[in-house]
Amino acid sequence: MGEEDRLNKVVLFTELTKLHDALNNFNIQSFEDKKVPVKLHMGEIKNKYFPKPDFVKYVVQELKNNKIDPFLFDTTVAYSGLRHYVSSYQKLAQIHGFSVKKIGCDVIIDDSGVIINVENRDYEVAWHIKNSSHIFAISHVKGHVATGMGGAIKNFGMGGVTKETKRKMHQGSRPIYKKDACTFCGVCAEVCPFNSIKIKNTTWKQNIRSCFGCGVCVENCKQDALKYKDVDIQYALACAAKACVQDKNVIYLNELKRISDSCDCDPFAKNIICPDIGYLVSDNPVAIDKASLDLINNVKKDVFIKENNIDPLKQIKYCEEIGLGTSSYQLIDL
Ligand code: SF4
Ligand code: SF4
Repeated sequence: MGEEDRLNKVVLFTELTKLHDALNNFNIQSFEDKKVPVKLHMGEIKNKYFPKPDFVKYVVQELKNNKIDPFLFDTTVAYSGLRHYVSSYQKLAQIHGFSVKKIGCDVIIDDSGVIINVENRDYEVAWHIKNSSHIFAISHVKGHVATGMGGAIKNFGMGGVTKETKRKMHQGSRPIYKKDACTFCGVCAEVCPFNSIKIKNTTWKQNIRSCFGCGVCVENCKQDALKYKDVDIQYALACAAKACVQDKNVIYLNELKRISDSCDCDPFAKNIICPDIGYLVSDNPVAIDKASLDLINNVKKDVFIKENNIDPLKQIKYCEEIGLGTSSYQLIDL
């Protein structure tokens, strides 16, 4: 077996018309005659950067051309707002252009799941993911406040589980403070994206109500004065992604366009931080996210770390550690 045979294939293209050829590098034939969820974040209200309906419609049509029966699919979220409930998320999806009429397939939002244990923790995987042998994932690659970058791993690790599991993952990444080790340097307060930490002289205070559980403070404390309540959210993300996709046939399409500072859940995501690159397709979530990160770093070195004070490579390394896949890849430029 040659070196190239051991590498995961990741196909890069810039014109959507090449999607057909890109998919033919993978076992798309095995999806034939199957009802297949197309896992997609349909965007938070006021967010400008989520995948656009015309693009999604094109992908859905390509799947149909391959005799696949697709439906758009996402899960409810832990925070309050329109995406918290199935009915209001359905309405928001329609407002954003994701309707049967516009896209040409059903739009399903899941609020229930099945518990799967990975690395001694339980993750409640959305019912439609658990009960599908074949899944197609559309992931918009962009920055993220808690994980540095969001791509295919995050689309499942957070987007594929129920809101109860999402809440647990965020809560587990909150800080536990160890006063004895604290030098009151102020770094944690500076990097906290939610202004949840206040330091005055030798007093450290945290507002638990505004803490999002992003773990950025823990990652940036060099004195070991903060530790995770349970576990690094990027580790939980890797485990939850594994709970969703292990033993399934999944094809991943990453969209490297409108690469914004913050994620599609963020109504205030404002800046494009890297020029458009194109699209990637792979059957391996770890390789496709590593290729996405490398391509973005080639254009704007360490842009996600600079933007969010957190290294997205951690989620990729954790995925490798727990056996979700390897990040080594062969890039095929169409
Ligand atoms: S970064 Fe660490 S050492 Fe500095 S103030 Fe925060 S907890 Fe204390
Ligand atoms: S976990 Fe995130 S939101 Fe909470 S205090 Fe730390 S940096 Fe702030």
